[in-house]
Amino acid sequence: MSSSPTPPPDGWVGPTDAEWEVIKTRPWDLLDPRHPRTPKVIAEGRYDLCKSCDEFHGFTHTCGICRCFMALKVHLAGASCPIGRWNPIEGVSL
Ligand code: SF4
Repeated sequence: MSSSPTPPPDGWVGPTDAEWEVIKTRPWDLLDPRHPRTPKVIAEGRYDLCKSCDEFHGFTHTCGICRCFMALKVHLAGASCPIGRWNPIEGVSL
């Protein structure tokens, strides 16, 4: 699958390179409303990729590699698939 980052949608305002360097995505970032979220259409695309992945556990909706709840993780703009099926969004705002 592609290893290039997911492009931001039109009109997406992004951080500087220095700001991007400090974005460290963790599961608990979902509790922080300041953490960048994924636009809905991209989150749905990410989740569709997960649902078609051999590592996806349909009963728990978790990834067999990162163990995350994928229905939630896909909404964090800085998150990524551990095997590169989908990538962080470049240019997200903090
Ligand atoms: S995060 Fe990646 S490896 Fe995990 S279920 Fe989704 S596509 Fe598969």
